[in-house]
Amino acid sequence: MVDMALVSGLVGTLKTAMDIGQTLKEINDLSQVRDKVIEMQGLILNAQSSAMTAQTQLFEVLHENSELKKKVSSVDEWKTTADRYRLVDFGAGTFAYELKEEAANGEPIHRLCPVCFGKQSRSYLQFQGVTSSRQDLFRCLPCGQDYFFGTKQVVSHPRVNRKPTSSWLD
Ligand SMILES: [Zn+2]
Repeated sequence: MVDMALVSGLVGTLKTAMDIGQTLKEINDLSQVRDKVIEMQGLILNAQSSAMTAQTQLFEVLHENSELKKKVSSVDEWKTTADRYRLVDFGAGTFAYELKEEAANGEPIHRLCPVCFGKQSRSYLQFQGVTSSRQDLFRCLPCGQDYFFGTKQVVSHPRVNRKPTSSWLD
Protein backbone atom coordinates (compact mmCIF):
# COMPACT_ATOMS: atom_id res chain seq x y z
CA MET A 1 0.00 0.00 0.00
CA VAL A 2 1.21 3.52 -0.79
CA ASP A 3 1.93 5.44 2.40
CA MET A 4 -0.13 8.62 1.95
CA ALA A 5 1.66 10.34 4.87
CA LEU A 6 4.90 9.80 2.95
CA VAL A 7 3.42 11.36 -0.20
CA SER A 8 1.98 14.39 1.65
CA GLY A 9 5.32 14.78 3.52
CA LEU A 10 7.09 14.74 0.15
CA VAL A 11 4.79 17.46 -1.20
CA GLY A 12 5.34 19.55 1.96
CA THR A 13 9.13 19.21 1.65
CA LEU A 14 9.09 20.31 -2.01
CA LYS A 15 6.88 23.29 -1.11
CA THR A 16 9.37 24.35 1.59
CA ALA A 17 12.21 24.03 -0.95
CA MET A 18 10.24 26.22 -3.40
CA ASP A 19 9.53 28.80 -0.66
CA ILE A 20 13.27 28.99 0.04
CA GLY A 21 13.87 29.44 -3.70
CA GLN A 22 11.44 32.40 -3.70
CA THR A 23 13.30 34.11 -0.82
CA LEU A 24 16.66 33.78 -2.62
CA LYS A 25 15.73 36.71 -4.90
CA GLU A 26 15.51 39.03 -1.90
CA ILE A 27 18.80 37.94 -0.27
CA ASN A 28 21.89 39.89 -1.31
CA ASP A 29 24.38 38.25 1.07
CA LEU A 30 26.20 35.53 -0.90
CA SER A 31 26.94 33.40 2.18
CA GLN A 32 23.23 33.46 3.09
CA VAL A 33 22.34 32.47 -0.49
CA ARG A 34 24.84 29.57 -0.26
CA ASP A 35 23.28 28.38 3.07
CA LYS A 36 19.79 28.56 1.56
CA VAL A 37 20.92 26.62 -1.53
CA ILE A 38 22.45 23.91 0.70
CA GLU A 39 19.21 23.79 2.71
CA MET A 40 17.21 23.48 -0.55
CA GLN A 41 19.49 20.68 -1.81
CA GLY A 42 18.93 18.78 1.45
CA LEU A 43 15.18 19.14 1.13
CA ILE A 44 15.22 18.07 -2.52
CA LEU A 45 17.34 14.98 -1.73
CA ASN A 46 14.90 14.12 1.05
CA ALA A 47 11.94 14.53 -1.31
CA GLN A 48 13.72 12.43 -3.96
CA SER A 49 14.22 9.61 -1.44
CA SER A 50 10.53 9.77 -0.40
CA ALA A 51 9.49 9.76 -4.07
CA MET A 52 11.54 6.60 -4.68
CA THR A 53 9.95 4.88 -1.66
CA ALA A 54 6.47 5.91 -2.86
CA GLN A 55 7.30 4.62 -6.35
CA THR A 56 8.37 1.23 -4.93
CA GLN A 57 5.13 1.08 -2.94
CA LEU A 58 3.16 2.00 -6.05
CA PHE A 59 4.79 -0.86 -8.02
CA GLU A 60 3.89 -3.27 -5.19
CA VAL A 61 0.25 -2.08 -5.29
CA LEU A 62 0.15 -2.48 -9.09
CA HIS A 63 1.59 -6.01 -8.78
CA GLU A 64 -0.97 -6.94 -6.08
CA ASN A 65 -3.73 -5.50 -8.25
CA SER A 66 -2.61 -7.60 -11.21
CA GLU A 67 -2.48 -10.76 -9.05
CA LEU A 68 -5.97 -10.07 -7.67
CA LYS A 69 -7.33 -9.57 -11.20
CA LYS A 70 -5.88 -12.98 -12.18
CA LYS A 71 -7.52 -14.58 -9.12
CA VAL A 72 -10.91 -12.99 -9.86
CA SER A 73 -10.67 -14.17 -13.47
CA SER A 74 -9.84 -17.74 -12.37
CA VAL A 75 -12.72 -17.72 -9.83
CA ASP A 76 -15.11 -16.52 -12.57
CA GLU A 77 -13.83 -19.23 -14.93
CA TRP A 78 -14.33 -21.96 -12.30
CA LYS A 79 -17.80 -20.64 -11.43
CA THR A 80 -18.82 -20.99 -15.10
CA THR A 81 -17.56 -24.60 -15.06
CA ALA A 82 -19.07 -25.42 -11.64
CA ASP A 83 -22.48 -24.05 -12.68
CA ARG A 84 -22.70 -26.84 -15.29
CA TYR A 85 -22.81 -29.47 -12.51
CA ARG A 86 -25.11 -30.36 -9.64
CA LEU A 87 -24.50 -32.43 -6.54
CA VAL A 88 -26.45 -35.68 -6.84
CA ASP A 89 -27.23 -38.30 -4.21
CA PHE A 90 -26.79 -41.63 -5.98
CA GLY A 91 -28.41 -43.42 -3.07
CA ALA A 92 -27.90 -43.75 0.68
CA GLY A 93 -25.97 -40.48 0.86
CA THR A 94 -23.36 -41.32 -1.78
CA PHE A 95 -22.66 -38.04 -3.52
CA ALA A 96 -20.88 -36.86 -6.64
CA TYR A 97 -21.21 -33.95 -9.02
CA GLU A 98 -23.04 -34.77 -12.22
CA LEU A 99 -23.15 -32.80 -15.48
CA LYS A 100 -26.53 -31.13 -15.96
CA GLU A 101 -28.22 -32.30 -19.16
CA GLU A 102 -29.13 -28.74 -20.10
CA ALA A 103 -25.45 -27.70 -19.82
CA ALA A 104 -23.92 -30.76 -21.50
CA ASN A 105 -23.13 -29.03 -24.83
CA GLY A 106 -22.62 -32.39 -26.49
CA GLU A 107 -20.53 -33.92 -23.69
CA PRO A 108 -21.72 -37.28 -22.33
CA ILE A 109 -23.25 -37.13 -18.87
CA HIS A 110 -20.50 -37.90 -16.37
CA ARG A 111 -19.68 -37.66 -12.68
CA LEU A 112 -16.97 -35.57 -11.05
CA CYS A 113 -15.00 -36.29 -7.89
CA PRO A 114 -16.44 -34.17 -5.04
CA VAL A 115 -13.01 -33.88 -3.36
CA CYS A 116 -11.31 -32.57 -6.51
CA PHE A 117 -14.37 -30.41 -7.25
CA GLY A 118 -13.82 -28.71 -3.88
CA LYS A 119 -10.29 -27.92 -5.07
CA GLN A 120 -11.71 -26.41 -8.27
CA SER A 121 -10.56 -29.31 -10.42
CA ARG A 122 -12.77 -31.19 -12.89
CA SER A 123 -11.76 -34.83 -12.31
CA TYR A 124 -13.89 -37.44 -14.05
CA LEU A 125 -14.96 -40.49 -12.09
CA GLN A 126 -14.22 -43.68 -14.02
CA PHE A 127 -16.53 -46.66 -13.66
CA GLN A 128 -14.70 -49.69 -12.25
CA GLY A 129 -17.54 -52.18 -11.91
CA VAL A 130 -20.33 -53.37 -9.62
CA THR A 131 -19.36 -54.61 -6.19
CA SER A 132 -20.65 -57.79 -4.55
CA SER A 133 -22.98 -55.55 -2.49
CA ARG A 134 -24.48 -54.19 -5.75
CA GLN A 135 -22.87 -50.75 -5.52
CA ASP A 136 -21.32 -49.00 -8.49
CA LEU A 137 -17.62 -48.49 -7.92
CA PHE A 138 -16.08 -45.39 -9.46
CA ARG A 139 -12.52 -44.15 -9.11
CA CYS A 140 -11.05 -40.67 -9.37
CA LEU A 141 -7.74 -41.25 -11.14
CA PRO A 142 -6.11 -37.89 -10.24
CA CYS A 143 -6.65 -38.28 -6.46
CA GLY A 144 -7.03 -42.08 -6.32
CA GLN A 145 -10.27 -41.97 -4.28
CA ASP A 146 -12.77 -44.81 -4.74
CA TYR A 147 -16.50 -44.07 -4.57
CA PHE A 148 -19.21 -46.63 -3.93
CA PHE A 149 -22.53 -45.34 -5.23
CA GLY A 150 -25.96 -46.61 -4.32
CA THR A 151 -27.43 -48.42 -1.38
CA LYS A 152 -25.32 -51.23 -0.08
CA GLN A 153 -27.29 -54.44 -0.52
CA VAL A 154 -26.82 -57.50 1.55
CA VAL A 155 -26.61 -60.29 -0.91
CA SER A 156 -27.79 -63.48 0.67
CA HIS A 157 -26.02 -66.60 -0.38
CA PRO A 158 -28.02 -69.81 -0.19
CA ARG A 159 -27.10 -71.55 3.00
CA VAL A 160 -25.52 -74.86 2.70
CA ASN A 161 -26.75 -77.08 5.45
CA ARG A 162 -23.95 -79.29 6.18
CA LYS A 163 -24.79 -81.80 8.70
CA PRO A 164 -21.78 -83.71 9.61
CA THR A 165 -22.29 -87.27 8.83
CA SER A 166 -19.77 -88.15 11.34
CA SER A 167 -17.88 -86.29 13.92
CA TRP A 168 -14.82 -86.97 15.88
CA LEU A 169 -17.01 -86.54 18.98
CA ASP A 170 -19.05 -89.62 18.07
ZN1 LIG B 1 -10.53 -36.69 -6.95
